[in-house]
Amino acid sequence: MIFDGHSDLWIAISNQRHQGQHNVFKSFYYDQYKASSVFGSIFVLWADPPNDVNPKKRIDELLSVALNEIEESQGLMRLITKSSELDMTDTSHFQVLIGMEGLSHLKGDIALLDDYYNKGVRHASLTWNDVNAFATSVLGDPNRGLTSIGIDVVTRMEQLGMIVDVSHLNEKSFWDVATHTHKPFIASHSNARSLCDHKRNLTDAQLKAVSASGGLVGLNCYRDFVSTNRALQTLEGMRFQIAHLLQKIGSDHIAFGFDFCDYLEADTLGSFSDTPLDQPGIEGLNSISEVKNIMHLLYDMGISEKDIHKITHLNYQRFLNAIL
Ligand SMILES: [Zn+2]
Repeated sequence: MIFDGHSDLWIAISNQRHQGQHNVFKSFYYDQYKASSVFGSIFVLWADPPNDVNPKKRIDELLSVALNEIEESQGLMRLITKSSELDMTDTSHFQVLIGMEGLSHLKGDIALLDDYYNKGVRHASLTWNDVNAFATSVLGDPNRGLTSIGIDVVTRMEQLGMIVDVSHLNEKSFWDVATHTHKPFIASHSNARSLCDHKRNLTDAQLKAVSASGGLVGLNCYRDFVSTNRALQTLEGMRFQIAHLLQKIGSDHIAFGFDFCDYLEADTLGSFSDTPLDQPGIEGLNSISEVKNIMHLLYDMGISEKDIHKITHLNYQRFLNAIL
């Protein structure tokens, strides 16, 4: 069983539903996931450019896409809303948590968070690459972190039992989250900045703060986050990332957050990316069907089977048990 802590697949599914398809996950994606042994994931609702003009409309549309897909799959896709529903030994159903990548659609209204929770959402990062009423992303003012209602929203998420995700936050917001949380939190799809100096990656001090909370850092295979050196935007570059994380935070705090973008439309990807549009992921790890290659890499690195199982799914099991 492999658990992927970050995917935007609802976007692709929504596009296909707009073209008249139904039961898209079951018809087009389930077999690819099954062939790669990926049986669980956090699929986020994301107001993707150019659909971010009215974030609430987009997020609500994607939420109804998600709920319709789960319903149409007739049990093949299982919505996880509490830890007792999670079964990491289940390799016939796909277990999905619905997340939110960014909270600009709440427009500062924390009561709306409860509405999303009640509809089944169990995860949120406070921002995508935007600045909103709660928090500041890596592209925002470095001196602005969480606002006072941003602290309140984190507190409310912990009370409800939602996953707090710091990927995309600027450093000040990150440290504000670290200060004001009492439970483990995750950086669902971020790598180590000391190996790849990109704002979306975490400094060694940040990596240690995530692990000190009991949380997880999800390995991201998006090219620009693996290495600034084009020659290392490969599995070899990923090998360095994995070795560094093992050294800094240990196998108990590493997970997957693949962040595959192979299915995004060119105008969406082009709005935030300088990478080749045909292959946003590193060579050998650009889509869910190539997950076997990172598994070979983990074994090739001499990592024990026990530690590999932590990285693939047991760490998420422990984390979700603590939160949901
Ligand atoms: Zn992201």
